[in-house]
Amino acid sequence: MEEVLKNLFDEVDNSHEEMMALWKKLVNRDCGSGNKAGVDSVGRDIQEILEGLGFKVRFHEYEKAGNMLVADYGDFSKPFIVLTGHMDTVFKDGQAAERPFTVKDGKAYGPGVLDMKGGVTILLTAMKLLTKIGYDRYGIRIILAGDEEVGHGSSHAGNDFLKEAKGAVMGFNMETGFMDNGIVIERKGCRRYRIDVDGVGAHAGNNPEDGRSAVEELCHKILDIQKLTDFEEGTTLNCGVIGGGTVANAIPEHAWCILDIRFRTQKGLDRVDKALKEIEKKVYVPDTKTTIKVILDVPAMEKRQESIDLCERANTIAIEAGLAPIHPIAVGGGSDSAFLVYAGVPTICALGVRGEFNHTVREYAVVDSLFEREKMLLALLMKL
Ligand SMILES: [Zn+2]
Repeated sequence: MEEVLKNLFDEVDNSHEEMMALWKKLVNRDCGSGNKAGVDSVGRDIQEILEGLGFKVRFHEYEKAGNMLVADYGDFSKPFIVLTGHMDTVFKDGQAAERPFTVKDGKAYGPGVLDMKGGVTILLTAMKLLTKIGYDRYGIRIILAGDEEVGHGSSHAGNDFLKEAKGAVMGFNMETGFMDNGIVIERKGCRRYRIDVDGVGAHAGNNPEDGRSAVEELCHKILDIQKLTDFEEGTTLNCGVIGGGTVANAIPEHAWCILDIRFRTQKGLDRVDKALKEIEKKVYVPDTKTTIKVILDVPAMEKRQESIDLCERANTIAIEAGLAPIHPIAVGGGSDSAFLVYAGVPTICALGVRGEFNHTVREYAVVDSLFEREKMLLALLMKL
């Protein structure tokens, strides 16, 4: 291994305490997606760290969601890379005090320890070590979202992400790492719709002929909707929750359901969306009216050959540096890597600490993976 990288690895070995302290500091605070003040205060702490290293830091500010931090370093007349992640967690206020950062049997616990305070710790430590040696292989842009866990539902962070990532030559997402060293190159997208049907209520015994059953109408439509599933295309539809009517002796005036769609490509989603518009207009039971509304939208990280190639090159570099091999995987859960890929950036995701059970109180991260993944990121940034 070449001298510079070896020295960087030594620095990591000598920085365990400092890294653990930063990890702990990031975990021991409430910053669920709903707590804007909490997320923004994490952003200011990270701003201070990065400005101390010579980064130019700015924020995209949102009224109802945690702000997005963007930090630039180096010469942007050169090709630049994007390092990304998020600062929010899925946990409610009070969790940081209730179950603070703890280490037991080589595993770290605490809200967001895996998803993704570990990844943020790795990112910030890498920046500290690389700026110290005058890193200038690429311009570096860091993008840290403040509302990733809620899919940027009440901000325009998705669009801001696209704009900031555009033109980058590579993207690295420090998200939750997987136990088997799989590196994510594809994630399914998720879109959810609420479907409401209004009919005409009537007494089931006295004047049923005056009624127009919303439940009946919805049943027809659910059958049409379920037929849109295409396993080969990777687009699946599930009317997962349904409701309607009030009492058994009334023709139901109203019915509703929640439709969840998982998709691998925008093309697949567009096909379904178009068909849903037809289904919305179509009427089986006269005088009923249907409305279909999007209530959640998480784009897919589409599989691209450039991302697979990047993962293969990263694997070669990891092995040459004496680190564990990695391999490309596809997963169901979404991340902001979708935006990187839409911006045309070859991207590898889930480079953060390894662990299990994120989004639950059983969440843990393997402590040693903090240092392993630190070395991997440094090797990639020095060699790719
Ligand atoms: Zn995450």
